[in-house]
Amino acid sequence: HTKNNGRNGYNFFQPSMNTIAQNQLQLINDLWLAQDHQQLRLFYQPKYCAPQGPILGFEALLRWQHPERGLLTPDVFLPLAEKTGLIVTIGNWVINEALRQLRVWHLQGHPHWSVAVNLSALQFEQSSLVETVVQALDRHLIPPELLTLEVTETTAMRDPDESVRILTELTRLGVKASIDDFGTGYSSLLYLKRLPASELKIDRAFVNELQSETEDATIVSAIVALAQSLNLKVVAEGVETEEQQAFLTGLGCNTLQGYLLGRPVPAEKVSELKNYTGQQAGA
Ligand code: C2E
Ligand code: MG
Ligand code: MG
Ligand code: MG
Repeated sequence: HTKNNGRNGYNFFQPSMNTIAQNQLQLINDLWLAQDHQQLRLFYQPKYCAPQGPILGFEALLRWQHPERGLLTPDVFLPLAEKTGLIVTIGNWVINEALRQLRVWHLQGHPHWSVAVNLSALQFEQSSLVETVVQALDRHLIPPELLTLEVTETTAMRDPDESVRILTELTRLGVKASIDDFGTGYSSLLYLKRLPASELKIDRAFVNELQSETEDATIVSAIVALAQSLNLKVVAEGVETEEQQAFLTGLGCNTLQGYLLGRPVPAEKVSELKNYTGQQAGA
């Protein structure tokens, strides 16, 4: 019996594991090539002053226009990019491309718009990050305070002392730091207080369930209160309904992001977004 199962296991798993491994290997190879073949692109999701405008700026979100697989979102390739270290060069490209685009918008009459870039843990820990940021700001003539670097709570709390050191160095340049996906990690409040961040982003998971689960409403209220007591701006991500928009605005959440207000779009499409001109209905 045991022998049989073993053989079945062998026969069943061996080919499929090979297929998965081959697939991943192919994807790594493709990703390596993607950078030189201009297949990576940034989409931009608007951040709105609560409840519905004006647009304050955008979060840059990475996309991969794969020649055969179509437009891929980060969940498909980011883990691989991190495991292989490719995320470092890709991430540097993201910083430069986002700032290049921001400069274009500034010159097109939106000089107050800001851009937020997500940093992976590996990128965050590179000693060259500060230099990369300084050079990109200089190259594209962007005032540092119009760049926000988003680091997840989990990344920030991996080595809290080191994170305080890195974020201090970065924010000395004048750039802003944001703690992303807040509520999903395990923050020590002591460290949270020490982190030179200017913003907390409430994770989508809490925002999504706001209408049905009163527990999530309590958590979100607590996060907003915590942010306010630490003098941090608070951004809600994943706002999909008018009820969520009203609830979050009522709590004093400054900035809203989500499909209700605007999905991530290519730069050419931002002029089609709600409240693009900044005029607020009735205001
Ligand atoms: P994130 O930084 O928390 O970004 C928010 C994600 O939620 C984005 O997914 C966005 O498209 C999605 N989203 C925004 N509003 C809504 C909504 O109302 N409903 C729903 N269901 N989803 C919404 P995306 O673009 O797939 O990115 C996923 C994650 O990948 C990001 O989470 C971020 O952690 C990472 N990522 C994206 N771009 C980059 C990058 O350039 N570098 C690095 N290191 N990570 C990136
Ligand atoms: Mg983010
Ligand atoms: Mg997030
Ligand atoms: Mg996230």
